[in-house]
Amino acid sequence: ETIGANLERTVARFGDREALVEVASGRRWTYAEFDEDVNRLARGLLARGIEKGDRVGIWAPNCAEWVITQYATAKIGAILVNVNPAYRTHELRFVVEQSGLTLLISAVSFKTSDYRGMIEEIGFGAAVYIGESSFSDLSLSGDKTRIADRAASLSFDDPINIQYTSGTTGFPKGATLSHHNILNNGYFVGELINYTERDRVCLPVPLYHCFGMVMGNLAATSHGACIVLPAPGFDPAATLAAVGQEQITSLYGVPTMFIAELGLPDFAGYDLSSLRTGIMAGSPCPVEVMKRVVAEMNMSEVAICYGMTETSPVSTMTRPDDTLARRTETVGRVMPHLESKVVDPGTGRVVPAGEPGELCTRGYSVMLGYWDQPEATAEAIDAARWMHTGDLATMDDEGYVSIVGRIKDLVIRGGENVYPREVEEFLHTHPDIADVQVIGVPDVKYGEELMAWIVMRPGATPLTADDVREYSAGKLSHYKVPRYVHVVDSFPMTVTGKVRKVEMRAQAVGILD
Ligand code: ATP
Ligand code: MG
Repeated sequence: ETIGANLERTVARFGDREALVEVASGRRWTYAEFDEDVNRLARGLLARGIEKGDRVGIWAPNCAEWVITQYATAKIGAILVNVNPAYRTHELRFVVEQSGLTLLISAVSFKTSDYRGMIEEIGFGAAVYIGESSFSDLSLSGDKTRIADRAASLSFDDPINIQYTSGTTGFPKGATLSHHNILNNGYFVGELINYTERDRVCLPVPLYHCFGMVMGNLAATSHGACIVLPAPGFDPAATLAAVGQEQITSLYGVPTMFIAELGLPDFAGYDLSSLRTGIMAGSPCPVEVMKRVVAEMNMSEVAICYGMTETSPVSTMTRPDDTLARRTETVGRVMPHLESKVVDPGTGRVVPAGEPGELCTRGYSVMLGYWDQPEATAEAIDAARWMHTGDLATMDDEGYVSIVGRIKDLVIRGGENVYPREVEEFLHTHPDIADVQVIGVPDVKYGEELMAWIVMRPGATPLTADDVREYSAGKLSHYKVPRYVHVVDSFPMTVTGKVRKVEMRAQAVGILD
């Protein structure tokens, strides 16, 4: 089934139920109204000559038009190219050229991003701006014959989306995804957290990323649930206010978003009584934070998902009936109809249960490939169709997966492997630590030494390396105790909410000098 056909089925079943709410403007759509706006934009894109397979970019903060554009391009078989709202001119030029955009749908500006200025600077002429007539004029009413004709020429294996990876470890790569890849992944995420047309899903995560557009939008629309956008960019207070106002049942976030929400000075004053479930994903989910989300945010069924852009994205996930320990300490089991295994990166052989190795994923959700990068594709997906994730994980004999960390972040200190994740989890138990990241820094004697970057809880005295050493004594092997401590207000992050350890390692060299 294509994304357009799936939406039409939902519209037929749940036409008068709410589909989309943009909290900042108060605008709301039922499924029938939403489908009408999607069709108007789809007709406009057809009238503008957009062919099947043409690339249409979207470069905007979260807004209702983002969602409408996602479904309108899917209905006519154009390939939506998600452009990161944090990009600057040179990155924009790279994406526009690399994906060969025919049209770019953008916003005039947001916060410090002057989108129009940057688009004009690279000399890209085919842009329209949400909120201006250039965009609204694209919307055409009329009959649906042309949309139906185009729909008849689409197959669910066609590419429908190019999503650039977060760029956490290097330059972003454009994962090319089909209807089949992302619609099924969104659908199964919704199945496993038991979505129905009564659910209301709050998305403070960027739509630009698969967390928002697949695990959020597609999971919701394939079940008739409602998408609620609390704010254009992440705002913890606006997010929790939206939960009460909009009677949200499911709240999403990367770990740092939940940490910010739990840390709001007036946290106890928000009405979270409507919440039931939600998803934490995107980077390692600290056990302590997950426990607080379950206990203090009324999200008793909250799930952890693990995945990557290249696998549409989710490949493993916890289920509401897993034990609390497994729902806080692991990333659950493989998704239905997918396979996963943990291999020795050197030999490619499956490692014994419980031993760390590289996690690999196979099945319907693996991308078609990196856009126009056959060599990079061949490096990531092997001849037997396994996607090599670059993540280190363990799997127990019942199939529960725990993420140990990225291969690139592994620290080798004096010949011992140190998984920063383990040290981070330990330091999270310190009552004064709100958030912590551990990296390896060059060291003459040991090759690498550990450095902890720490965000203190409000009002706490900054910790020193001695304090950390004392706290760790007898609880953590000596070689895992960070030699250096650096107290910060925040970490260098990607717009998708991932900590950029590459950037931290670069800065650390300057700090230590
Ligand atoms: P790039 O590939 O450009 O360096 P990226 O890998 O961060 O960036 P994404 O595809 O957005 O880009 O993120 C996928 C990665 O996020 C995974 O490979 C994994 O390292 C991390 N990740 C996602 N979910 C989890 C999770 N639940 N626990 C631990 N890590 C996770
Ligand atoms: Mg990656």
